[in-house]
Amino acid sequence: MSSKQEMVQHVFCGLADKIGRPVRLMEVCGSHSFAIAKAGIRNLLPPSVQLLSGPGCPVCVSGEDFISRSIRLVRSGIRVAVFGDLMRIPSPLGTLGAEKGLIVIYSPEEVLDYAESHPEEQVVFSAVGFEPTVSAAAVVLETARKKNLKNFSMLCDFKNVRPVLDLLCADQETALDGFLLPGHVAAVTGSDLFKGLPVPGVVSGFSPENILSSIALLLNEIAAGRNSILNNYPSAVVPEGNPEGLKMIKSVFEPADGEWRGIGLVVGGNWKIGSAYGGFDAMERFSVLQEPLPPHQDRGCRCGEVLKGRIMPDECPLFGKICTSEHPVGACMVSEEGACAALWHNREAV
Ligand code: SF4
Repeated sequence: MSSKQEMVQHVFCGLADKIGRPVRLMEVCGSHSFAIAKAGIRNLLPPSVQLLSGPGCPVCVSGEDFISRSIRLVRSGIRVAVFGDLMRIPSPLGTLGAEKGLIVIYSPEEVLDYAESHPEEQVVFSAVGFEPTVSAAAVVLETARKKNLKNFSMLCDFKNVRPVLDLLCADQETALDGFLLPGHVAAVTGSDLFKGLPVPGVVSGFSPENILSSIALLLNEIAAGRNSILNNYPSAVVPEGNPEGLKMIKSVFEPADGEWRGIGLVVGGNWKIGSAYGGFDAMERFSVLQEPLPPHQDRGCRCGEVLKGRIMPDECPLFGKICTSEHPVGACMVSEEGACAALWHNREAV
């Protein structure tokens, strides 16, 4: 261990001593999950400080029904465009990757270009994500409206981050003491979004140094008995957020209740397409999406407990045995920012 690591450990131990009891922290951003696992940050924490991975990866929390519905669209002859991460998420109807005729995109603009140049096809953009993606999707829908694209629509499972944090705080079994808050989301929403949480939180950037200092700040708040929300990523985050991005989100989308995979119904936990843009909502356009969906299949996956912070990924009996990043059983092992995949990819460092 380097002298720098020893110094970090010394600081953490001092703060843990001041607190004088076990604490449970949670990161709620997939990029944090990956960075923490890659840098081996958990190795530097004293045994009394547990850092859990929460519902911070959009691929992990997107509903199983969303994948089944996207597959239904493909099988109905509709051209579906997705980001590559969605291809391997298991559902009762299989995976999108097993279907023919999908378009894998790298930017949302590609879908609009495709729809414009293929007026004979119905094109659906199937998308998941948190506020940064929601604001980009709002621009896409606004552009589609301006271009009067009749063959374009969107099937979305967009997540509204704040309500799920309140839900996690109320969970007696998880019993959280503080959050490492998502820097990318806060760059759009502002750090003020997190005001009023019953536990302290620190908005963090993504370098190991920034994450380490954010954890130290968080422990310091807990030691002092404060529930402050601190911004440790001021180069990208301001309290009020990005006014243009927020305006776009609110003009195109509206909050709705939604299913988070493994967590269940989160009141106000989704963003749905608002009525002014209802003509671009695939749920309204295609009757095949109204048909009953196949029941959930129990594959032994414990993503729900991982995402609620009740277990660490390697406490799942399938971790690394049946479930690997090459053969994911659950959504948390699909994207490298999923809690299970982040740990699996960086198992040497953890
Ligand atoms: S290791 Fe695999 S099966 Fe277990 S919780 Fe994670 S994704 Fe699910």
